[in-house]
Amino acid sequence: MNNVQPKISDHPLINKGPLSKLYKELVQCELCPRIVEFRTKVALEKRKQYQEWTYWGKPIPGFGDANASLLILGLAPAAHGGNRTGRVFTGDKSADFLIRSLHEAKITNQPNSDSLTDGLIMNNAFMTPVLKCVPPYDKPTAEELRQCSPYFNQEMRILSKIKVVLALGKIGFDGYLRYIKQNFDIILKDYPFGHDKKYTLPNGKILWGCYHPSPRNVNTGRLNQKMMIDLLRKVKRSLKDDI
Ligand code: SF4
Repeated sequence: MNNVQPKISDHPLINKGPLSKLYKELVQCELCPRIVEFRTKVALEKRKQYQEWTYWGKPIPGFGDANASLLILGLAPAAHGGNRTGRVFTGDKSADFLIRSLHEAKITNQPNSDSLTDGLIMNNAFMTPVLKCVPPYDKPTAEELRQCSPYFNQEMRILSKIKVVLALGKIGFDGYLRYIKQNFDIILKDYPFGHDKKYTLPNGKILWGCYHPSPRNVNTGRLNQKMMIDLLRKVKRSLKDDI
């Protein structure tokens, strides 16, 4: 593969549709100095097997159907996944696991997610991270999460048909609860995170917890493909006619 360069013009949601204005602004964002330094360093140093890539190295927009009922919510792009390819859950082991599972549950048209131009289509689903850039050690600070939250808040206003939020990992789960606190005059009770834990929130949306499909969770057996597919099928059934 020679000189692979993910281009803004290859990202369908930056160029047209209701999220275009937001995402054009997002990809220019340099608000967090620590994160900008890290995402740039990773993009310049590269992993050995991706030396021929020109890494994206910018904030990562969401991807999928802007009229979707299902939101799949992650933490942040991966250093050599989304930060390389320019698309969330694309080009790393978490993406391989997640997209294969989504395909088994008939939520994507194909089992792989490799690059912006691989032809992936999501069926009535949308995926996005709460934090739009890769943080060092996958650990954002509270200030970075706060700084980035207006982008997620705006996505939620635009993705107005979402009924169910499947949060991959506790940080994504807590990110959605933070969005509720920031945008609705609601006092939230405690919603403990857990795999297959499901809550109906005061804004009428369902928040569903899922272990993050990280290599660590998969390699330790905390999450396996059957658990993931079973949960996705259950989520899909809850949406009945929508997917
Ligand atoms: S994490 Fe969010 S706020 Fe910080 S630089 Fe990236 S896009 Fe901007």
